[in-house]
Amino acid sequence: MPSQSLDELLANIDDSKLLKLAEQARRLTRQRFGANIELYTPIYLSNYCANRCSYCSFSADNLVARTKLSDEQLAREIALIKARGIDHVLIVTGEHPKQANISHFLRWLGQLKQHFNSVSIECQQLSLAQYQQLTQAGLDGVYLYQETYNEQTYRRVHLSGFKKDYHRRLQAPFDMANAGVRRIGLGILLGLHDNWRSEAKHLLTTARQLRQRYPNSDISISLPRLRDSHLFATDHAAAKALLQIIVAARLYEPSISIALSTREPAWVRDLLMPYGVTSASVASKTAPGGHQNELTLAQFAISDERSVDEFCQALRALYLMPVQKNWHHGIN
Ligand code: SF4
Repeated sequence: MPSQSLDELLANIDDSKLLKLAEQARRLTRQRFGANIELYTPIYLSNYCANRCSYCSFSADNLVARTKLSDEQLAREIALIKARGIDHVLIVTGEHPKQANISHFLRWLGQLKQHFNSVSIECQQLSLAQYQQLTQAGLDGVYLYQETYNEQTYRRVHLSGFKKDYHRRLQAPFDMANAGVRRIGLGILLGLHDNWRSEAKHLLTTARQLRQRYPNSDISISLPRLRDSHLFATDHAAAKALLQIIVAARLYEPSISIALSTREPAWVRDLLMPYGVTSASVASKTAPGGHQNELTLAQFAISDERSVDEFCQALRALYLMPVQKNWHHGIN
């Protein structure tokens, strides 16, 4: 276990010290997780959103036509993802009480569970009872990011809608844990708040609280980045900050999962992958119907556009093992 405190791990340190810590994090990750990198792909089902968030294309302010996948379109998305060998999917929707609610989630989950071993969801905050319903129906994980732990920044960027309630959102991971959700995904949107070190500190403190109170839950963190944020002048600067957060996360709370998304360019993903990352999205599309190249409103731009095969090859070149199926439900 590291002798450094979380403040020390996230302090402004020189490159040689960061590289020493990175090597410790790499070794600890291999001990805990082997060389495995679990692959998943998002499947967007609806881009309707009733909320206004200043950083997101799905914001209700954006007066572009919206859509929700029909059963036929969903079947085509499923076939395309299956053909790529992916067995873990993440349902993603905008937040809209009429177009994407618990009834839709249960129906979509039922359809997807017939084809994929692991299905998780990223949608609006639900109630504890609704998380229980989804878990009992076979959902494996829920990803719900605080986006920023700074309350003032949170209020500034969440202009209206259900998501605006900062304190209510802080409660969500604890509701998920109490509902028995297996994997709980926390996250910060880097670039929203000026101080990424304090954001990372809050994120990792929350992860530790959850680990201590709910040792049977798998706590995962994600570090998506606003690509046009003034906070990082270059991808190199962002890569260094991401490396430090990943390393701090692994050394501070060794058992947590760490996901890295296709928002980052291929070279940044390859650089960071050995030092603590345990799961990665691949062949991502961020619009409903995206896997079948339908032109609908996308949530954000992808940077790493490599195919599943190309990405797996890159992982193997780093002596990492792509895992396309890592979870199988037993017979109850
Ligand atoms: S971040 Fe979520 S709630 Fe906000 S506009 Fe985008 S999809 Fe809607």
